[in-house]
Amino acid sequence: MANYFVNKNEQSTGENEVHREGCEWLKKAKDVEYLGDYPSCHSAVAEAKRRGYNADGCYYCCNDCHTR
Ligand SMILES: [Zn+2]
Repeated sequence: MANYFVNKNEQSTGENEVHREGCEWLKKAKDVEYLGDYPSCHSAVAEAKRRGYNADGCYYCCNDCHTR
């Protein structure tokens, strides 16, 4: 299990990246929302989408969930 967060600021391409705790890019994100403790990035991205974010996994920490 790991803690996941979504970047509240969209990328220039329009999506909100989901990060796992400890990701360097999460540390650089200025405004994030805590999603919860999940067994995989898939559940975390699903939760972010449920909350209305155009969510996609971070290329570095959630590569399994990175689609764009
Ligand atoms: Zn990341």
